[in-house]
Amino acid sequence: MSYTQDVLAGLRQRYQSEPEFLQAVEEVLLTLQPLMDKDDKYRKYKILERVVEPERTVKFRVEWVDDKGEIQVNRGYRIQYNSAIGPYKGGIRLHPSVNEGVLKFLGFEQVFKNSLTGTAIGGAKGGSDFDPKGKSETEIMRFCQAFMVQLHRYIGPTIDVPAGDIGTGGREIGYMYGAYKRLTTRYEGVLTGKGLTFGGSLARTEATGYGLVYFTEEMLKDRNETLEGKRCAVSGAGNVAIYCIEKLIQKGALPVTASDSRGSIYDPNGIDLAVLKQVKEVERASLTRYAELVPSAQYVPVEDYPEGKHFVWTVPVDAAFPCATQNELNEADARCLIENGCRCVAEGANMPSSIAAIDVFLKSGIAYGPAKAANAGGVATSQLEMEQNAGMTSWTFEEVDAKLHQIMVNIYRSVADTAVEFGQPGNLVLGANIAGFRKVADAMIAQGVI
Ligand code: GLU
Repeated sequence: MSYTQDVLAGLRQRYQSEPEFLQAVEEVLLTLQPLMDKDDKYRKYKILERVVEPERTVKFRVEWVDDKGEIQVNRGYRIQYNSAIGPYKGGIRLHPSVNEGVLKFLGFEQVFKNSLTGTAIGGAKGGSDFDPKGKSETEIMRFCQAFMVQLHRYIGPTIDVPAGDIGTGGREIGYMYGAYKRLTTRYEGVLTGKGLTFGGSLARTEATGYGLVYFTEEMLKDRNETLEGKRCAVSGAGNVAIYCIEKLIQKGALPVTASDSRGSIYDPNGIDLAVLKQVKEVERASLTRYAELVPSAQYVPVEDYPEGKHFVWTVPVDAAFPCATQNELNEADARCLIENGCRCVAEGANMPSSIAAIDVFLKSGIAYGPAKAANAGGVATSQLEMEQNAGMTSWTFEEVDAKLHQIMVNIYRSVADTAVEFGQPGNLVLGANIAGFRKVADAMIAQGVI
């Protein structure tokens, strides 16, 4: 059995109850064999066995009081996955689906994503099964404070720097930052995605979506194409989706869909960005509200999606941008996209495509940008926020955006070149995994068994 298969077999036994984690590991390990064949040192130093295990997992109880005076209990986690190339860095997810396996998949992805940014940040992820939906502002604040009562012991600007993810936006980061400051009496850049008046970076909000589009432009450039005039399907309606849509519009493309947990909107004339921002960022309402405000839009509730498919992937488009959540695009969706003429898929969410869907994309030869490369602009700009905090300075929007753009160009180049180096030009999954892994693995070897 090959080294990668051998390690995978052991993991499948040990972590049966963590399907998302196994999926993420499988996707990476299956593409690393050519590197293992080239250099035996990875096996000699047992790098695969080591890199799949988090360096540290902190689990804690989060207790808080709701508006009715009832005590609530949630489970909180911080998975400090790998610090070979820098302090731990990664978001905090607040969603009822959060458990240790989900955060392990996210943390594992983060290690290689952060490595691809070319900056010195290790990988981590945290979160809680707290459901922000339907909670009042004060409940959200009390939860964030309670979460930080535990978390503050384990983080610090050169130790571990959390940020946003699903359910954690600027508001939540603000409350967590306030709580950290109160608990530690330190005013330091311990979280990224902060408000602009207290150490946040311009363009951090836009960064994941913008970076996704910059990456896509590079991918298309290599095929002598541009985004101009392309019809695009986007899923999600959060931070990543909104700023992906904004940048697509700026590039002359036509994004025609968006979605949330209850349904999707399809507007053949193109999504009205101002209305989408009003509904999601200001009113925090469902997309039904968008359909009320924009009569040309069709609203399709989840119950009416075609059997086994996500509605947005059934709309005929030239390019698709999954920006919602894991496993939101399955094999049937992938086939449907391709049959309808889609020639480009770039992932804004983490692990949105199933392994079978990825297979369909790779076999079809379309341009396919995997999440850990395509959505790395968010965390890369978090690192720019850390740099600004460390230097006690702040840069203009244009400066940060220009740096983000250059980082995405560099990521694309290193991923595409690595795919060529290993004899599979155009296979950006292999390119991203090998390029991201190699740097971390070599740093681990250099630092010894610790
Ligand atoms: N949660 C984001 C990600 O998946 C951003 C993490 C960060 O900025 O640290 O990459």
